[in-house]
Amino acid sequence: MEKKREQFDVVIIGGGAAGLTAGIYCGRARLKTLIIEKALVGGLATYTNEIENYSGFPEGATGLGLMDLFHKQAKKFGVKFKLTDVKSVKLEGETKIVETFRNIYEAKVVIVATGGKPRLTGAKNEEKYLYDKGISFCATCDAAANTGKTVMVIGSGDAAIEEGMFLTKFADKVIVSVLHEEGVMDCNEIAKAQALANPKMEFIWNTMVDSFEGEERLTHVVLKNVKTGELIPVKVDSCFLFIGYVPNTELFKGVLDMTKAGYLLTNEKMETNVEGVFAAGDVREKFLKQVATAVGDGAIAGYSAEKYIAESEKFEKQILNDGKPSLVYIWNAVDPVCRDLLQVVEEYKEQYLGNICFTKVDVYKSDGIAKRLGVTQYPSLVYINDGKIVECLDKDQIVSGAMKKIVTQCSA
Ligand SMILES: Cc1cc2nc3c(=O)[nH]c(=O)nc-3n(C[C@H](O)[C@H](O)[C@H](O)COP(=O)(O)OP(=O)(O)OC[C@H]3O[C@@H](n4cnc5c(N)ncnc54)[C@H](O)[C@@H]3O)c2cc1C
Repeated sequence: MEKKREQFDVVIIGGGAAGLTAGIYCGRARLKTLIIEKALVGGLATYTNEIENYSGFPEGATGLGLMDLFHKQAKKFGVKFKLTDVKSVKLEGETKIVETFRNIYEAKVVIVATGGKPRLTGAKNEEKYLYDKGISFCATCDAAANTGKTVMVIGSGDAAIEEGMFLTKFADKVIVSVLHEEGVMDCNEIAKAQALANPKMEFIWNTMVDSFEGEERLTHVVLKNVKTGELIPVKVDSCFLFIGYVPNTELFKGVLDMTKAGYLLTNEKMETNVEGVFAAGDVREKFLKQVATAVGDGAIAGYSAEKYIAESEKFEKQILNDGKPSLVYIWNAVDPVCRDLLQVVEEYKEQYLGNICFTKVDVYKSDGIAKRLGVTQYPSLVYINDGKIVECLDKDQIVSGAMKKIVTQCSA
């Protein structure tokens, strides 16, 4: 079956907080935008029952409720959604290709917002009991099924402790395996104090999982004391893992720069090492992975995408000028030398340029076009003909009249 081809300005891979926010910005900028999501629109945040630290919701919000609002807002701005898995990408070159099982999407910009997936413990038999066989990653999803039961939580970070406390509303007992010394936890102090005071929570310190045991379903978690080596079998009905995340970046290996752990490297504009490809949210290397920071990243990526597309159009139409001669003055509006010279250039333009295309590019606003032309020193005057750079004049050459020579050549 031949795959259907469709063109978009922007394709966003991943429909979590970052992808949805990028979508809102792109949609609002009237860019034809597609979000591809392989699981649940809303992403990881939908897995958490309560989000208390997202601004603007003094009473807190459920993850599902909050993400539903993001989704509605993106749809309001005309963003299209496809619920499917992205299988492969070709990101280099002007037209980016994003391929799913049935479709090939072509885009001017790709925003990677694929987030991460929960980290596994690596203990024996783990794969055997994943998801519906007793090992879970989502308290919201599986708490009710554990009403009146005994569950274990692995980890002591914010997610582990907050979700553990949520589980106490359903389970009779929540046993927390903590890797650290008694009283040492990775979560914030408020969560720690609440958890230690919760009569339904028990802590087993200095432990990690050695194995998961049971028949069809998990019945025991065997913990190992990391100081003494003692094995401690604990009878449980379910076990919840909250020990961090692994970024979803398999698709981008060898193309996008990433850390050893697989997090994508970006600059503050969310640009990756490949032109026209941006990354946002938990998938990128950053200090704090939360809904609020995913939203900030998404906003920047969406805005950067809009600027990149506008610049590409300007570059094609005005700078390359269909192969006809074009002069580009690249300057920095905050540099007095550039400002002084602008006057000289403008005068030449008035006197000699006639209908030769002349463009001013202020790198203070954006250095995208300067980068495309490979110009790093400002001011510069670039003469382009037949779509290629013929000459690039520096400040002294412009002052010494070399510009006039070029203009004469252009007009000839
Ligand atoms: C249990 C838990 C509790 C949390 N509590 C809080 C909290 O209280 N406050 C807070 O601010 N943050 C909290 N967080 C963190 C917050 O959920 C994340 O920081 C946020 O969801 C990151 O958003 P994102 O868009 O970057 O990534 P994600 O939400 O992970 O979204 C990425 C999306 O990309 C999709 N995807 C991946 N690969 C592909 C592919 N190949 N094709 C198509 N789609 C793909 C995934 O299915 C996913 O939906 C919590 C997280 C967890 C797990």
